[in-house]
Amino acid sequence: MLRVGSVVMMSVMALSGLAVGAQQVPSHKWAVVLHGGAGVIERATMDAKTEAAYRASLKQATEAAAHVLEKGGAAMDAIEAAIRILEDDPLFNAGRGAVFTGEGKNELDSAMMDGATLKAGSVAGVTRTRHPISLARAVMEKSPHVMMIGAGADAFAAHAGMEQVKPSYFFTERRWQSLIKQLKKESRPIPARPAGAPPPPSTPVAEIESPEAHKYGTVGVVALDKQGNIAAGTSTGGTQGKRWGRVGDSPIIGAGTYASNASCAVSATGTGEYFIRLTVSREVCALVQYKGMKLQDAADDVIHMQLESLHGDGGLIAITPDGQMAWSFNTPGMYRARLAEGGKLEIGVYKDEP
Ligand code: ASP
Repeated sequence: MLRVGSVVMMSVMALSGLAVGAQQVPSHKWAVVLHGGAGVIERATMDAKTEAAYRASLKQATEAAAHVLEKGGAAMDAIEAAIRILEDDPLFNAGRGAVFTGEGKNELDSAMMDGATLKAGSVAGVTRTRHPISLARAVMEKSPHVMMIGAGADAFAAHAGMEQVKPSYFFTERRWQSLIKQLKKESRPIPARPAGAPPPPSTPVAEIESPEAHKYGTVGVVALDKQGNIAAGTSTGGTQGKRWGRVGDSPIIGAGTYASNASCAVSATGTGEYFIRLTVSREVCALVQYKGMKLQDAADDVIHMQLESLHGDGGLIAITPDGQMAWSFNTPGMYRARLAEGGKLEIGVYKDEP
């Protein structure tokens, strides 16, 4: 039975040349926004070489997403392509280069959400899957579940034929040194160097940036494709020195990751506990959906009013189906980039950049 709404919809589609059964003509301009983590990222403690390396990585990942979108690919595909690059990049706290737990392990969290269908997949505490973002997507597409954790999630990845690695694959010397520094400062026990890690360097690792900055680097991407669909994805090693088994906001749908074509798509970064309590990502979309707020205003409200009132720290990126792009953060810096069809690539690190 045809409902009145369907009749109206069909007339609208016919008027716009989209007859039912005909191939849908892509009419939207694509856009993508990326983050590579927020935190105490400051000019005074960042050398030019490291900064250039971060900017080059952000550019490469944004261009990978743009390439997919330009060809008419889905937002989900663009996001996965970009995040896989960042997960392989040791500069970021996701995949290889993830921060360590207080017990000296890498436990990875990730999520993806498709704004067109409201389908979502996420994983927490995985230790063997090379690309947690692809595993999150597999949970969404190949299982009846939304969220899987730990050994069960890794086993599901192996079963789905996804690349498995030894836990030491994720090890990087600078994250390890950064953990030791933090644990010493907090008078906590120092765990044994992980099995399979390369031998410790004979000369101390150069302090290429502030030890504080070594804690950051969660990655997230939101995208709008030519079909007018939006999606979001986030991948992280969590917070440095976290307790074994701790899960942050990134894989919690509505907290660190959310997407709905009815409002917006968001990926967050920062101290996850606050983002979970405020359901930050869904909150931004709720302000857009129910209050009719502009995306940037909604993002700023949640970060600068709500998050700050809890003394939380971090930031987010967001996008709407009508092409609004936003980022907002209350930390000294956030690695970030954005690009829309026909526009110029914008990359930022510090607060004082646009
Ligand atoms: N939000 C992540 C977490 O709490 C960490 C980060 O974004 O830096 O797990």
